[in-house]
Amino acid sequence: MKVHEYQAKALLAEFGIPVPEGRVASTAGEAKEIAKALGGRTVIKAQVFAGGRGKAGGIKVADSPEEVEKLAGEMLGKRLVTYQTTAEGVPVSRVLVERAVDVRKELYLSIIVDNSSRMPVMMASEAGGVEIEEVARATPEKILKAYIDPAVGFQAFQGRRLAYGMGLEQPQIKAAADLMANLYRLFMAKDCSLAEINPLAVTADGRLLALDAKLNFDDNALFRHRDIEELRDVEQEDPLEVRASDMGIKNYIKLDGNIACIVNGAGLAMAVMDLVTQAGGKPANFLDIGTVNNTERVVNAFKIFAADPEVRAVLVNIFGGMARADVIAQGIVEAKREVDVRVPLVIRLAGTNVEEGKRILNESRIEFIEAVDFYDAARKAVLAAGPAR
Ligand code: ADP
Ligand code: MG
Repeated sequence: MKVHEYQAKALLAEFGIPVPEGRVASTAGEAKEIAKALGGRTVIKAQVFAGGRGKAGGIKVADSPEEVEKLAGEMLGKRLVTYQTTAEGVPVSRVLVERAVDVRKELYLSIIVDNSSRMPVMMASEAGGVEIEEVARATPEKILKAYIDPAVGFQAFQGRRLAYGMGLEQPQIKAAADLMANLYRLFMAKDCSLAEINPLAVTADGRLLALDAKLNFDDNALFRHRDIEELRDVEQEDPLEVRASDMGIKNYIKLDGNIACIVNGAGLAMAVMDLVTQAGGKPANFLDIGTVNNTERVVNAFKIFAADPEVRAVLVNIFGGMARADVIAQGIVEAKREVDVRVPLVIRLAGTNVEEGKRILNESRIEFIEAVDFYDAARKAVLAAGPAR
């Protein structure tokens, strides 16, 4: 789950990380009042779930409350397109109005979970700011890393080493090391999957300040963070994914292909996506319907696909283990009756109660293409769907 910059900054502050003074506004009038209260130069920042705002006109500097009002008015209610969004962009319903900081230097700092070392890794660079992707591509040696053993936590020496590596001098070394330790505390306490401060500014008067903040949270841990879950902003999420989650389908990710996949088990779902790709097609989604022994989930999955205009074929690949192939088959039959699915349907069923499942499908007289195994299913779906965009 993602949150907005202003929400992430509130969490940073809670964990002792300095952020610029500022507040969020949802109208131009509110933005003006905030600027008045702050006084001096302010920055107006579109609050969207995407980076690259600076380069896309989502970050503006203003010298007076009147200018803030005008600029905020221009941003609010529009959609912002950055290199991280789709061509339609994301809606701007709030702006953060904060004090413009006199920046001497922009650093980069983040923590992610590194899959290969199976540890959180703190990454730091002296070349922070809006060009960080280019830095990572052209001069990866400028990004320093410290792997954190969760059993012992982030060590003071790691903080000092990164701080020196970022070209900081006394007295910022200790401040930077403390800030990193605090970011790690936040990362662990809130079950983050990403915590990023870019830029981490060194101000003209020598302070460290998080000018931007991005926090992502592990969805599987949200049950123990009700406070975080409440921050969810569905307006910023993909509408089909929101609908899927409302219907009890937790593991649906919209992709840009044309073959909808209904699979049980995340591993099998991955394998099906690989095979579809290998057979020359493009999956329209990732979907693990889970272990279901009710037909409703299957019907709901079809409802999601019916709302996706890109879908040209549906591929069902179910291996009945705990889930029963006959229940899934019944679900498919009900879905075909309830949902207006006009695209070809390729079905491969195996495992528990498969004979009964096949009997249900055949006796229902719904139209479908039967597949004998994985690859056969993928190939038939690709043929049925035709070329993807
Ligand atoms: P994004 O990463 O989406 O482009 P940022 O919040 O990082 O958005 O802002 C982009 C740039 O705008 C920063 O690198 C920084 O130079 C400048 N900036 C952002 N906030 C402030 C601020 N409060 N004061 C001064 N400059 C800022
Ligand atoms: Mg940024």
